[in-house]
This record gives sequence, C-alpha cells and structure tokens, in this order.
Amino acid sequence: MIQLKQVSKSYGSQRALAGIDLEIPQGECAVLIGPSGCGKSTLLKTINRMVAVDGGEVVVDGKRNTDYAPEVLRRQIGYCIQGVGLFPHFTVRENIAVVPRLLGWKEREIDGRIRRLLDMSGLPSSYLGKKPGQLSGGESQRVGVCRALAADPPVLLMDEPFGAVDPLTREKLQLAFNQIQEELKKTVVFVTHDVEEAILLADRVVVMNQGRIVSNKAPGKFAGLL
Ligand code: ADP
Ligand code: ADP
Repeated sequence: MIQLKQVSKSYGSQRALAGIDLEIPQGECAVLIGPSGCGKSTLLKTINRMVAVDGGEVVVDGKRNTDYAPEVLRRQIGYCIQGVGLFPHFTVRENIAVVPRLLGWKEREIDGRIRRLLDMSGLPSSYLGKKPGQLSGGESQRVGVCRALAADPPVLLMDEPFGAVDPLTREKLQLAFNQIQEELKKTVVFVTHDVEEAILLADRVVVMNQGRIVSNKAPGKFAGLL
C-alpha cells in the first residue's frame, strides 16, 4: 500500500533521511521509533507530501504520490498529530466533519459516520455540541483520531498522537486505537518515542537512527527486551 524507495531529504546541510526503503502492506500498522531528530516526522510527512523529497519516490496505492492531485491525496490519507490542532470555535461535530464536507458528503452520511467513529473511540454522542476548550486532553485526542478517520481514508499517519497526555489516559487511547484498527484495518504509519506503545500497536516496529532504518521487525522480537 505504501512504498518508500531510496527516499532522501535534507534541510539545508542537515540530512534528515538518508536513502529510506520501506514497504507497508495494506491493513498493517508500522510504528516508527527512534531518538529525537532521527527523521521519524520527516519520513511520515514525505508520505502525504507535506515534505517534498530530494531523491527517491513514495508510492501510495500503486501510484507515485507526486502523481496525485493534492485533494485526491488528502482524501487517501488521514493525518493526526500530538496536540491535535482542533479548530477552537468549531464544535466536536464540526471539527470531525471538516474533510467529509470538503468532499461533498451529504449531512446524513456525515452524521452516520460520526456516530460510528465516536462510538468506536469511546466518546458519548452528547459531546458533539461541545467546543474543544471543554474537553480534556485525552478527549481532544480521541476527537483528533475521529477527525483523521472521518472521510474513511485507507491510509492513516499518526505523529506522536498520544504524546501529550498522562500515562493512564495514554493507555486508554492506545486500547481504543487498537480496537478501531481491528475493525477498520487502515494502513497506518505511527510515530512514537515509547517502546511499549510501539510493541502494543505495531504489526512492524521500524527503528530509525540518524535518517536511516536500522531494524524492521515484528513486535514480538522486542517484547523480551522490556
Ligand atoms: P518532533 O518529532 O515533532 O520533531 P520531538 O518529539 O522529537 O519532536 O521533540 C519535541 C521537542 O522536544 C523538540 O522541540 C525537541 O527539540 C525537544 N527534544 C526532544 N528530545 C530532546 C533531547 N534529548 N534534548 C533536548 N531537547 C529535546
Ligand atoms: P524526529 O521526528 O525523529 O524527531 P525529524 O524528522 O523531526 O525527527 O527531524 C529530523 C532532522 O531534521 C532533525 O535534525 C531536525 O532538526 C531536522 N529538521 C526537521 N524539520 C526541519 C525543518 N523544518 N527545518 C530544518 N530542519 C529540520
């Protein structure tokens, strides 16, 4: 579903990615882990073209990502970051509905989709009319995941999505995410600093260091290290 072939990227003289080869099959969750500055976020952003590569290519669903019209690529790829960046003046419902509305979905379809996503993420529907300022960190993060999944993209990019919450909330979010993934089977690229989170969520754990992939294994191979 996603292939990176010899992808490289530098910011000025700072090399962020040094010839990345990576394949993520449809429906699998690849977790990128490694020290701060090793290139995880940059790798993630080359997939949806938030970062333009200097060399190599990224293939999404059989086609180079540079060959998609930007709005088509956006429909294919949901994106979720730490701190979520919900629009503060929009309600929860309006926040989740942004992309489906851009895509011209009918309000009735959007309603059905939102109810299903809220249910899966463990938020009561009474939250739909709330503003982001009325939510806890963990609740906001759930809404952020719902928003990324709203238009049902086959690919989901998650950049430290649960990094800003307390450990107990984080654990709940991880379990909710695992349940959602079990049901929806998205192709996921998930960035984290947290080895336990990687082992819990990953089909493949991809370890990076200094712009390179240094290991790519099933999570079971790491469990003994904890
Ligand atoms: P991102 O992955 O979005 O680049 P990181 O999670 O790597 O962000 O880092 C978040 C912030 O914490 C950055 O501003 C970074 O400079 C800082 N940071 C992370 N690790 C360290 C460290 N070991 N020493 C100093 N600052 C750090
Ligand atoms: P990670 O997500 O693993 O913390 P990043 O992909 O954020 O790593 O960063 C990889 C390297 O690229 C780091 O050395 C970082 O300082 C640099 N970098 C990332 N984004 C930028 C940017 N917008 N401008 C300049 N350098 C950047």
